[in-house]
Amino acid sequence: MSKPMKYVYAFAEGGRDMAALLGGKGAGLAEMTRIGLPVPPGFTVTTDACKVYLKTGEEPPELAVEAAQALAGLEQAMGRTLGAPDDPLLVSVRSGARFSMPGMMETILDIGLNDESVAGIAKATGQERFAWDSYRRLVQMFGHTVMGVDGDLFEEALTAHKTRRAVADDHLLDAGELAELTEEFKAIIRKETGEDFPQDPAEQLSRAIRAVFDSWNTERARVYRQREHISEDLGTAVNVQAMVFGNLGADSGTGVAFTRDPATGERGVYGDYLPDAQGEDVVAGVRDALPLIELKKLNGPVYGELVDHLRTLEDHYRDLCDVEFTVERGKLWILQTRVGKRTAEAAFRIAHDLREEGTVSEDEALVRVSGAELTRLMFPRFRTTSDDVPLAHGVPASPGAAVGAVVFDSAEAVRRAAAGEQVVLVRRETTPDDLPGMIAAQAVLTSRGGKTSHAAVVARGMGKVCVCGAEALAVDTVARRFTTETGTVVNEGDVVSVDGTAGTVHLGELPLTASEVGRALETAAAAGPLTEAVLGALAHADSVRRLQVRANADTPEDAVRARALGAQGIGLCRTEHMFLGERRALVEAMILAREDTAREEALAALLPLQREDFTKILEAMDGLPVTIRLLDPPLHEFLPDRMELAVRLAEAAEPDPRDRELLAAVERMHEQNPMLGLRGVRLGLAVPGLMAMQVRAVAEAATARLRAGGDPKAEIMIPLVGTVEELRLARTEAERVLAEVAAETGTELDCPIGTMIELPRAALTAGKIAGTADFFSFGTNDLTQTTWGLSRDDAEASFFPLYLEKGVFEVSPFETIDQEGVGRLVEIAVEAGRAVNPRLQTGVCGEHGGDPDSIHFFHRAGLDYVSCSPFRIPAARLEAGRATLTETTRTSDTR
Ligand code: PEP
Ligand code: MG
Repeated sequence: MSKPMKYVYAFAEGGRDMAALLGGKGAGLAEMTRIGLPVPPGFTVTTDACKVYLKTGEEPPELAVEAAQALAGLEQAMGRTLGAPDDPLLVSVRSGARFSMPGMMETILDIGLNDESVAGIAKATGQERFAWDSYRRLVQMFGHTVMGVDGDLFEEALTAHKTRRAVADDHLLDAGELAELTEEFKAIIRKETGEDFPQDPAEQLSRAIRAVFDSWNTERARVYRQREHISEDLGTAVNVQAMVFGNLGADSGTGVAFTRDPATGERGVYGDYLPDAQGEDVVAGVRDALPLIELKKLNGPVYGELVDHLRTLEDHYRDLCDVEFTVERGKLWILQTRVGKRTAEAAFRIAHDLREEGTVSEDEALVRVSGAELTRLMFPRFRTTSDDVPLAHGVPASPGAAVGAVVFDSAEAVRRAAAGEQVVLVRRETTPDDLPGMIAAQAVLTSRGGKTSHAAVVARGMGKVCVCGAEALAVDTVARRFTTETGTVVNEGDVVSVDGTAGTVHLGELPLTASEVGRALETAAAAGPLTEAVLGALAHADSVRRLQVRANADTPEDAVRARALGAQGIGLCRTEHMFLGERRALVEAMILAREDTAREEALAALLPLQREDFTKILEAMDGLPVTIRLLDPPLHEFLPDRMELAVRLAEAAEPDPRDRELLAAVERMHEQNPMLGLRGVRLGLAVPGLMAMQVRAVAEAATARLRAGGDPKAEIMIPLVGTVEELRLARTEAERVLAEVAAETGTELDCPIGTMIELPRAALTAGKIAGTADFFSFGTNDLTQTTWGLSRDDAEASFFPLYLEKGVFEVSPFETIDQEGVGRLVEIAVEAGRAVNPRLQTGVCGEHGGDPDSIHFFHRAGLDYVSCSPFRIPAARLEAGRATLTETTRTSDTR
């Protein structure tokens, strides 16, 4: 018989490797307990229990018994009983999923208080006001999060009290007023739900646990999971922990501390401290916290002890940790720890420093950073002059530069962003309700809260620009405007620039300047600790990676830039742009030609222009492979628009005969489904002389480069092949031209000829095709379109949002390779191709070549290279290195 499922673990029973079962928070609490840190005791209800609840709508029957036993253990450890009328034990209930996940019910404090035990706690602490404040908080939190009462009703009642007493702060309400307020809160609950606030502590506890389970499915939690690609089935754990109080007077307090600065990565303890307050006050940013160093002045020994524990934790986890802590009458308690979220800048610096300090290996340091973070660092920053006076200064909570129209609520942010507008969400402070707006906005600006406020933490996690605590701004969300200290009024829709690195807000759109990391990558020269860390990580990635990284580039300028960024060649040089601009007339002439001579003339005029293009690109990539793809798009793309032409002809007093001719050609070429029409290799085979002209231009350019002492490595690539017959015909023609040029110039070229694999049929018959190809380059854009049978341009604009929302896609298959379908075709083709042609080179040149997850897949599939846009090259190099360290290769390289 299998062991019965255990649904509850005391903190002392768990450990850090149990995060899937106990959630991140529960595993952290268990681990801290295990290594002897001062953690208030408690227990964790497992994610398994939550999964049963989510599936069946009922808690597993064993849960009640196990929770009661764990509670009895806790009561024994604390020498107090939950909710006892005399000196009661109080507990907190917190959600804690495998991955930190804003949007779920976070916390209910002070469970165990009721009409009797409130007096007991008053007596035990000697603080009546504190007791009533705790009770009214419980009724408020419980009423809102467990019983579903609109939170504003409580806030309104609280505000009414404060107005009546003419005080600005909750702190100034005395015990009697708080007792009255508690009664009012209870009345609100009764009125709204028809139920009384439960007096039974055990009922409070079990209902709070159930509410945490339920909160897994809130709208906000779903939105967050979708965005972060967190699986819907993980469920959350629930932590029940003995309460300790930071709000028992001046010798108490609460705070958040980091072992290093999570914004910059700088070494040294860092955080916020709020005297005489409960933890939620810091996280909510409701009151402005002191810098942590102030705790040293307030209580040196406690500060010293905290710093010791932070060191212990960082050594133990070998990474940046953050903790929530409480000081209760001079005694330090650690309430939570986790490996801390950090900005991209901090990620690189911390990984680099930990490696230098000998804490982690070079490989581990590389795995700790990501291509997405690197890309974020390459973004430009604002260029400001001394004349640019900011509207306000705030806390630089999440770096970067963003410009957008000001909006004052989440819904408006979502609405405007959906209409294509860039927006900046401005709030006094944010709550989980603002999450959709934060996702939609370019930046978040708040007038209250510090680096650990909700706005700061969430924005940093998303890599979104954030300035918080800009106190000089009076934010009026009702009138939809904010006013600066000097009286400048900024209304909804006005454009501001938010500098999350400097912590400033400016009116209007500031000019941008390249990022220091971007510059360092292009020059390969470090200019400070951050760039040193980035270049160090990249150098290590380059030394371990198996995948080569090439660029998709079709101009000499792009080629130069790509090379500077580390490209090892061009994996896709699209030739279509070379048919545009001033050359369009020649292309039109080629298309319209009725006789061979006219077409040949047009092609002959295009030849030297193409030759020059290729010469320059080969020069820029001297010594490195340049894969030149023959013309791919349908020809109508080079002709004027059908409607425009028709209108022009209809409106003209004397219609231009050439327009008539053009319209006839456009109509002749009109296709219902151009994506599946006369394009790719079909075009090369159907338009006499076109392919020959392009191959000749490549050959002559390469010959010219050889003569100039260069080392050209041109490769010719045939697009959209579906059967080996097409490739055979195209290859024969290309080889004929290459031989012709060799005979004319006396120079033999080594010019590999390969094909794109971008149709399912090509992938499935790759074994045949490989006999005629020197290389395969997977065109995963078209391969995705044709495997799924959808047109990217149409689908992305129409039903994609719906599919993402309904979970048909977790992520667009055009962004990250669909491993099961399109990816499977890639694997089949690589294996079959190599079996026939062991020297076959394989790469990918669709957009997926620059996507981190896809790069890991291509590594596993055993490809030789990925090719991507120049700006994605550094991230691709980094991810290719990380893939070598974290992935096992599926197909062994047979060569
Ligand atoms: C592809 O299909 O993946 C590809 C690179 O070609 P294009 O995007 O130019 O069709
Ligand atoms: Mg294609």
